[in-house]
Amino acid sequence: MKFKSINFTCKHCGAPLRFSPIHNSLDCEFCGTQESIEESVERIKEYDLQEALAHLKHHHEQEISKEVSCSKCAATFNMTPYSVSSNCPYCGTPAITNFVKEITPKSLLPFHISEKKAHDLFKKWIGSLWLAPSKLKKFFESNQKLKGYYLPYWTYDADTYTNYHGQRGDIYYVQVQKTVMVDGRQERRTVQESRIRWTPVSGHVSNSFDDITIGASKTISNTILDNLSPWHTEVLVPFNPKYLSGFDSEEYTIGLDNGFELAKVKMTHIIRQDIRDDIGGDQQQISHLSTQYNNTSYKNVLFPIWTAEFKWKNKMYNYAINGQTGKVTGERPYSWLKIAAIVGTLSGGAGGAVYVDQHPEVIQEIKSISLEYLG
Ligand SMILES: [Zn+2]
Ligand SMILES: [Zn+2]
Repeated sequence: MKFKSINFTCKHCGAPLRFSPIHNSLDCEFCGTQESIEESVERIKEYDLQEALAHLKHHHEQEISKEVSCSKCAATFNMTPYSVSSNCPYCGTPAITNFVKEITPKSLLPFHISEKKAHDLFKKWIGSLWLAPSKLKKFFESNQKLKGYYLPYWTYDADTYTNYHGQRGDIYYVQVQKTVMVDGRQERRTVQESRIRWTPVSGHVSNSFDDITIGASKTISNTILDNLSPWHTEVLVPFNPKYLSGFDSEEYTIGLDNGFELAKVKMTHIIRQDIRDDIGGDQQQISHLSTQYNNTSYKNVLFPIWTAEFKWKNKMYNYAINGQTGKVTGERPYSWLKIAAIVGTLSGGAGGAVYVDQHPEVIQEIKSISLEYLG
């Protein structure tokens, strides 16, 4: 499919404008003009989920790459089928194209963290990590390139009603006679021991969920997308392509229906906690629960994320920064030398280092132990 890209140009000099997270406006890098983005009074709406699911066409969308022609230099280049904006690889001009999916974002969170700020935050983060190889910190100073993405998310609202069955455990104490050794002689003593009494229980809990966010992109791992939350969705602004100018952006590749299944998992996690509170007692078991989801609604939104990947000793690592709040998350390499040193210290000898070298399978385990140990 062929697309013609659009870009926004400076009133004064005609150079391309890019969205600036610092000024919250379109900025001209050439003459310094700032063009504010008109504020929309449009309300951010929630859309009925059941209605949307019933009307979505379940045809297989062809995954064809987009052939985009640059509005500035007329060169053509390819973008992935789910890309909506990028920069022309030939002249660097922002290139914004059309959405092709049935549901398009009606609101977004603009970038608030600038690239420089994101870079500083990341450096601070890697510097604060225990067990990161020392050379890595230097490597970042010189090699770090960040990419700004608006990535698609679903937000879901639901009122839930959950019936449950389970058991409530109450601890009580009993006196028992025990034989103990005192000064090398056996002696009968009365000691207190705890027991637990289980009582069958059932009941229901009601919950109201607002904006459960689910990443709808496969560009970054779901774990990373999840770890970037919380997102402050109360400051969503109506969609305007000007916010995308200069950034890469994507449409959803995880559908509305699958996204809702993931949202149910998140909601169930909270519902289970509520059931435990409802059961009370010292311990709780939940044997069965069934949840009705009422008044379900959704939004398709774009969230700003700075990402980068880096290669360290032949392995790729990804990390990301929440472009609204500056929260950093990611995968990171560990220094086996530092870990080995700690294992050696923990086990009271230098043997640990040798053991780790010869048994890579224990590394995973050691990582968690060491990290816990270091708090
Ligand atoms: Zn200008
Ligand atoms: Zn171009």
